Amino acid sequence: MIIVGGRKRKKTVRRMKKSIPKIFPCPNCGEKTLAIEIDRESGVAEVKCGKCNINDQVTISSVEQAVDAYGKFVDKYYGGDKNATG
Ligand SMILES: [Zn+2]
Repeated sequence: MIIVGGRKRKKTVRRMKKSIPKIFPCPNCGEKTLAIEIDRESGVAEVKCGKCNINDQVTISSVEQAVDAYGKFVDKYYGGDKNATG
């Protein structure tokens, strides 16, 4: 038995209640490729740069937006992990 025709690819797209990632300038590489995706359920914003692949997670409250998460990430990036020199 021969089945004629191309394969039909069934794509199950599961739409989560996630907002579209917002894009911000990346403090690490300087490109505007830093995507922030907010997970409201866990109160976490995922930060990821498509260029330099830096990634992090910041916690946000229910009223905070991607821009707030971005601010926290930048703060953390510049001053969060302070290593002693040497
Ligand atoms: Zn980057």
